[in-house]
Amino acid sequence: MTLSLSESLQGAAQLHGPLLEQTGVFRGNALLLTGPARVGKLALAWAVAAQHNCTGGRGMYGEACGQCPSCRALAAGAHPDVLLVEPRATTTTGKTARRRIIPIGAVLKSRDKSRDYEVHVFEFLEVRPTHRRRVVIVQGAEFLGLEAANALLKLVEEPPHGALFVFVAEDLRAVLPTIVSRSARLNVSPVSDPALERALLRQSHGQQGAADPDLVAFAAGRAGVLEHAETVHAALTGAAEFTDALGEGLLSALEAAERLEKHWDPAWHPEALRFVWRSLPPHQRARADAALLALQEALEAYASPSLSFQVLALRLREALGHA
Ligand SMILES: [Zn+2]
Repeated sequence: MTLSLSESLQGAAQLHGPLLEQTGVFRGNALLLTGPARVGKLALAWAVAAQHNCTGGRGMYGEACGQCPSCRALAAGAHPDVLLVEPRATTTTGKTARRRIIPIGAVLKSRDKSRDYEVHVFEFLEVRPTHRRRVVIVQGAEFLGLEAANALLKLVEEPPHGALFVFVAEDLRAVLPTIVSRSARLNVSPVSDPALERALLRQSHGQQGAADPDLVAFAAGRAGVLEHAETVHAALTGAAEFTDALGEGLLSALEAAERLEKHWDPAWHPEALRFVWRSLPPHQRARADAALLALQEALEAYASPSLSFQVLALRLREALGHA
């Protein structure tokens, strides 16, 4: 089950209430949300967009009501006043190495049409808001190209129709200083385990008596993991099964490798495997990590996946002392 936008907004509001209290009274032009991966920055950015467009009665943290026309449009994924800009993977000619970037084509119509986005920030801001305020969410602000950032600066300084920019970044040091200096910075931190457990239980609508302790430990306070609870749960189960099978003989290990390949999700499986291996002795863990890294590099380089997963199983059997 993928969470609906309104559910993940409610989750963000509940987990990052004090931050929403601050964003609710923010009167500037640009916010910069920073914090580790999966901590819930993007959900918070959407919650800010909802908040600044809401016309209903606010919640205890000043969060959006969830009922008014603006909130309903946002929950339906069809809010006319919110634009999400994300980096694109570009392949540098002749190489397999991929680089993520927000090109100038995200802001203006560029000469290089291939890098154009459907809606440019510039055009988007020319139009008056349908509800209260145009909001541009720039996810991955550290990937703003210099040209794109320069084109944005003027808009950030004097946003047409009082628009709001919400920059989202994992690594503050990688964000261009011109963007940082024009934004009010908010750090989004991991939440406590009990808070995350409560959010998980609310999310399961009382269908579960207790939150999965592995999931809570894996999340380590990162609210963004909640949005993918089922995927993460599956990845953790798969990682544990695979690791167990490694010790059951060569054939089971190779069969398990095939199953792992079939369900492989590069967003979650590497971290799930490392999580399962966390209790291994350090020397085994280091070798297991190296085998995993080799797999990821092989997949990046478009090596044969089935062969790469078999090699992973063999290397891990050696690393864990099964071979
Ligand atoms: Zn509302």
